[in-house]
Parts: sequence; C-alpha cells; structure tokens
Amino acid sequence: MNNFNELLQKYAKLAVKTGVNIQENQTLVINAPITAKDFVRAIAKEAYSSGVIDVHVDWNDEEISLIKFNYANDNVFDHFPDWKATSKESLANEGAAFLSISASNPDLLKNVDPKKIARTRKAQGKAMEGFKTILNKGNVRWSIVSIPTDEWAMKVFPNLNKDDAVKKLWENIFTVTRVDSDDPVKAWDNHINLIKCKTDLLNKKQFKSLHFKSTGTDLVIDLPKDHIWVGGGLTDHKDIYYIPNMPTEEIFTTPLKTGVNGVVSSTKPLNYGGNLIENFTLTFKDGRVVDYSAEKGYEILKGLIETDEGSHYIGEVALVPDNSPISNTGLIFYNTLFDENASCHLAIGSSYPICIKDGTTMNKQQLEEHGLNTSITHVDFMIGSKELSIEGITESGERMPIFTNGNWSK
Ligand code: ZN
Ligand code: ZN
Repeated sequence: MNNFNELLQKYAKLAVKTGVNIQENQTLVINAPITAKDFVRAIAKEAYSSGVIDVHVDWNDEEISLIKFNYANDNVFDHFPDWKATSKESLANEGAAFLSISASNPDLLKNVDPKKIARTRKAQGKAMEGFKTILNKGNVRWSIVSIPTDEWAMKVFPNLNKDDAVKKLWENIFTVTRVDSDDPVKAWDNHINLIKCKTDLLNKKQFKSLHFKSTGTDLVIDLPKDHIWVGGGLTDHKDIYYIPNMPTEEIFTTPLKTGVNGVVSSTKPLNYGGNLIENFTLTFKDGRVVDYSAEKGYEILKGLIETDEGSHYIGEVALVPDNSPISNTGLIFYNTLFDENASCHLAIGSSYPICIKDGTTMNKQQLEEHGLNTSITHVDFMIGSKELSIEGITESGERMPIFTNGNWSK
C-alpha cells in the first residue's frame, strides 16, 4: 500500500463527513486508543477543515484496563466514575458529535474473571444510562469506525507475521468500508440508497412475524405493531443524516419482547469483553431465554444473560445478505462491528426506541408497554448463513419469502 497515507486520509474524511456528518461550529469528541494517534490526527485535520470549534480526544489504553482487572481491589469493579458519565452528558447536551475509534485486542481479557467483566460492564452501563438516553433520542450524531491493532490483525491472519497481518487487515478494512473506491463518500450514497429500498419495502409490509429456519434454528419472532425497519444511517433531531456504524450492511427492527419462540443457533463466535463464546444455542418461550448452551464460553454467556432481567430477552432482529462485502471477505474479524455486518443477527438486551413509531419520545415503561425490551446491555450475536431462510408472516397468516439461501429472495 504505497498510498496508505492517502487511504488513511480518505478514511478519516469518510468518518467525519459521512459518519458523524460534522457541521460547522460543532465540537467533535473522539474516543480513541493511544495506538490510533495517526488516524486521530488525520480526523482532526478533516474536522478542523470542516469548521469545528474543538476536537476533544478521550484517549484510552486497553493495557491499563487489563492492569486494573489484575491489580485493583475487588470493590472497584462495581464503580464507574460519575464525572466520566456527566462529562459525556454535558458535551452531548451542548450538541457535540461523538466519534469512536475501535481498535482492540480480542484476547486481552481472556484470563480475567468473567464476573469482574460483567460487573464492570454493569456499573458502566448504569452510569452511562443518561448519556445513552440522549443518544437514543436522536439528539446527537455519533459514529464508530475501526482500525487494526497488532494482536487483532494476528488473530484474523494467524499465518502471517505481524507487519503483514496488520497490512492485510488495513486492506480489508479499506475494502469493506468502500474507502478503496474512487469516491468513498459517493459510494456510500449509493449503498445507502439500496438499503433504503429494503427498509421501505419491509416497513410497508408490516409483517406480524418472521420465521427463521436453518440448521439448529427454528425461530418465530413476532414484531410489534408500528415497528420500523432501520438501516444505513439515521437523522438527528435537526434532520441531519449520519451513519452510526461504518461499515454497515444491516437493516434492523425490534422484536415483540414477549413474542419470540423456538430455538436459535449462533453461526459465528461472539467476542464479548475480550472472551469468545462459540457454537451456542438459545431457546425462547414467550420471549424469555428458558435454556441455553455453548460449546465454548458457557460461563461468559451466562454472565451476559444474567446481566439484568432485560438481558433474558432480545431487542434487535437484523437482516444482512450473505452476499455482502464483509461476508465476501470470508474472514472472521473477531470484532462485532464487522462480524455483525457479515450476517443476520439478533441482540441480547435492549431494543432501539427508533424501531417503533414515536419510540424516541417514550420513557422506559412506555417502551415496555409497546413491546420493546429494556436492559442496560445490548450484544449482537450472529445467526446468518448460506442456509438461512426467512419468511414473513402477515396478519392474515400469509407467508412470503424474505431470505432464500442466505440472500434477499427474488
Ligand atoms: Zn445490528
Ligand atoms: Zn445490535
């Protein structure tokens, strides 16, 4: 990649213009690991050129997170600093945009007690509830993009040396984010238009339920009245378009919390807090997980499901064709941002209020009354494959194919 710096700058531009769609006189908050400094500088250059008033970087270092798990007193894992949560909230209330750079070592926490991880997540989830509420109401624009780490690259390409693995992962990231096309911003416009066609179609149909069938999966998911399929980007309260996840291929909605019945099997490993859960199966009755098993990572899965009451239910159903850029790389990225866009998936935990009519004006209780799930967690797991078929079932019981052999039905 002779033109690496050029591609990096294009990627930065895409994150700033298409991702958070930064506006003049805004503050840009970047959440980034210290390993991302070159990329963060490229982003700052784009942001200031676009007229922001401030680029604020929240640096983090995952090695310090590991040190904390290994050496801190036990009581600290139930604690999350208030000031961290309130500073995010006040930046959000002032109208800042939030860009997160995700770059992590998927194996970082593999020797850490899963209970400590679950407690840490719970404390953070609780403390950040206010900030999440602001996000979910659509009052701020935010986006997540990803860059390689050495450990991550070597996990994806175990047969390459470190430098080649990192180079290869960068190439794949540039491909699946369409950064290697002539005009990435334009390529994203086209991609988003296609996604819009599918969401429009499903929103018009208003299926009563979806029937998922594949090896190890026979699951009926009811959808609430006035559910909304969302995909690609979102608009904030000022009607400015942004794209929360890059890459994104999925279109998704909320299940009816109490209307999920049957069994579903995962088709890709789930990386949860640095630990992998593999080949797991969940059984649902009236929406609640009543049984589960995992070939690997059972205790981690248990920790996830036992997070709170809402984590016994699912809050998202997402469709991704098997024939899509990420899926076509044939790689397992060990990173949900990529892997979730390779495959149809469900999420354990909270529903997105945007997935139901007037949802963003509803409080928790109202969301529950309309059949949405609430939880402090939301974790995607993959269920798609070449074998997956999905049928939509109308109010009158009529069945229509949506997915055949893993792709949109003709
Ligand atoms: Zn999703
Ligand atoms: Zn999700």
